[in-house]
Amino acid sequence: MREMNFYPGPSRVYSSVPEYIYEAYMEGIMSINHRSDEFMTLMESTKKILRERLLIPDDYEIAFTSSATECWEIIAQSLTQKGSQHFFNGSFGEKWASYAGEIVQTKISQFGINEKLPTGDISKDIDVLCVTQNETSNATQVAMKSLEMLRVENEDKIIAVDVTSSVGGVMIDFKLADVWYASVQKCLGLPAGLGLMILSPFAVQKAEKMAVRNRYNSLLHIIENTRKNQTTYTPNVLGVYLLNRTQEASKGIKTIAEKVENRFKAYEAFFEENGDFQFLISNPAVRSHTVLALESKEVELLKSQARNRGLILGNGYGPWKNSTFRIANFPAIKSREVEKLIEFFKKAI
Ligand SMILES: *Cc1c(COP(=O)(O)O)cnc(C)c1O
Repeated sequence: MREMNFYPGPSRVYSSVPEYIYEAYMEGIMSINHRSDEFMTLMESTKKILRERLLIPDDYEIAFTSSATECWEIIAQSLTQKGSQHFFNGSFGEKWASYAGEIVQTKISQFGINEKLPTGDISKDIDVLCVTQNETSNATQVAMKSLEMLRVENEDKIIAVDVTSSVGGVMIDFKLADVWYASVQKCLGLPAGLGLMILSPFAVQKAEKMAVRNRYNSLLHIIENTRKNQTTYTPNVLGVYLLNRTQEASKGIKTIAEKVENRFKAYEAFFEENGDFQFLISNPAVRSHTVLALESKEVELLKSQARNRGLILGNGYGPWKNSTFRIANFPAIKSREVEKLIEFFKKAI
């Protein structure tokens, strides 16, 4: 690839992807029927590999969707009886709340970008709690410790967590929530067009209890199908295949998370030493390690100079569009690309 892409999604795909696409074509994967034994074997194997590589508990179900966005609606339609409470400090969490608000009662719990998850004020008439664990728009993250507090204090509620830009890059303790969802074009290093849903036994029970069947993506249908290693509609078979091959080749989340963490530390050390850059998130405890947002006086100039050297920086997002740029710290990015980027910043300042 000519360009080194640090955009936080869609982002760099694993360099093995072209080879796997070629093999998928040669093996006829792109044309298999999604009710065939061949597909069911692929799906079963993909779920098994994901479970092993990402350390997903044995009693959690794994299902495929089309995107993370689709999961917002699935959670509101198929898992929310009374209402959902939304904790967010950025654009993705806000959009989730607004989609859910069209379907069910919602309560908004907004918090500051440098604040911890506010776990105290939980409404009585709410049965689903919604958290964006890694807020890609402003590069904040919710610590597993905070999710643990939320879990301990709300055993009776469904906790749903958006891990779109963290799953596959950081260690996640899946026992701390009931619904985890993501799409594959961020830390999983694949082309967009496939979503992932990971469900606790409690979430499955709730879907069975609500028994919503009148939606094209009713969760009960999704669960019944995934248990047969099928999907409700014709899925992105190539995406499933690529997930299978890339995860099979992966050393597992522990090793990957260590690599991501070391790179984050290198970035942090560099930017904290340089007065020309400031982390948008000043509180290191809530700073994302997979997406970095940096303030600079010369954002536009930096982006264009970087582009001239084949380095694509991410734009700022929403209210931070003009004052910040973002860097994806995703596993598929090569070490030499990270080195090139840091070298570029050294010369630019
Ligand atoms: C990218 C992203 C989404 C949306 O993903 P789609 O694949 O476009 O549905 C949702 N939430 C977060 C946190 C994201 O980073």
